[in-house]
Amino acid sequence: PDETWRANVSLLQGTGHTLVMLEDLTPVRRAARARSDFLANASHELRTPLTALSGFIETMRGPAKDDKASWDRFLDIMAGESERMSRLIADLLSLSRIEFSEHIAPSEREDFTRIVRDAAEALQPIADDRSITLDIRGDAAALPVIAHRDEVVQVVENLLTNALKYSSAGGRVTVSYGDAASMADARGMAGQAWPESDRMTLLPAGGRPGVPDPSVWLRIEDQGPGIEREHLPRLGERFYRADQSRGGKITGTGLGLAIVKHIMAHHRGGLSVETRMGEGSAFGIWMPAAPGRTAGTKAV
Ligand code: ADP
Repeated sequence: PDETWRANVSLLQGTGHTLVMLEDLTPVRRAARARSDFLANASHELRTPLTALSGFIETMRGPAKDDKASWDRFLDIMAGESERMSRLIADLLSLSRIEFSEHIAPSEREDFTRIVRDAAEALQPIADDRSITLDIRGDAAALPVIAHRDEVVQVVENLLTNALKYSSAGGRVTVSYGDAASMADARGMAGQAWPESDRMTLLPAGGRPGVPDPSVWLRIEDQGPGIEREHLPRLGERFYRADQSRGGKITGTGLGLAIVKHIMAHHRGGLSVETRMGEGSAFGIWMPAAPGRTAGTKAV
């Protein structure tokens, strides 16, 4: 249904021949459709909390006008809805920023170790709040990469936020990182430890990880509910939320993994997921290591 061809027909003067040029417009049409689907989804997602907000305002002005007891409850819900809108807008802005810088290749030399550790440290309070043990496994040595620092920080934060969000209180989240060799030793080099039936490569598209050499790796494993296999191919699509169909109560925008996928593509890296219902999930990323790693360099 997407296929469209534009035909250009010219008569070649005096030859009796006709030249027909066919131009494949399919990619153009697909991009236009993706853009309009995205706008429709974004508007819908923004309208939902807004509708709730105006509904409560109406009620508080009308039927519940003098019911001060209900007001507190309504205000709580309204605060939640406006938070949800803020999160959505923040995620939408991230996506648009990333799309804007898509054509600018990452150029700064950064330390992957530092990025992972800083992100984990930033989220430690959330783990503490829910008595989740954050287990960081990786060398202090620097792992140089050529990257947009803020973008890679966002990848680690999004994956870690999900691991914490979908974990039960009292659980454990294990963050392992390193170069390809060190990850091969650890249980669960991203995408290699669990059987084929429990994992899927989300990036690069097409399944087989085209792993750059040398590369750096990160794997974030949780003991959460797991994700049903049928959802896996669609993770990373904008607004796709697997737990909605399970009636999940955990809030989210469905944009976190889309952002992760985008950023990893921008860094010529990869993204994989391993998961088993009732046991947990592990998200793995990898990207090229910068040339000239100085062994023994300590990240402080
Ligand atoms: P959300 O804001 O909904 O968390 P994401 O794009 O980050 O959006 O994730 C998409 C969906 O993938 C989530 O709605 C959830 O169903 C599923 N998911 C992501 N990470 C995990 C995880 N660690 N454990 C279980 N499910 C997850």
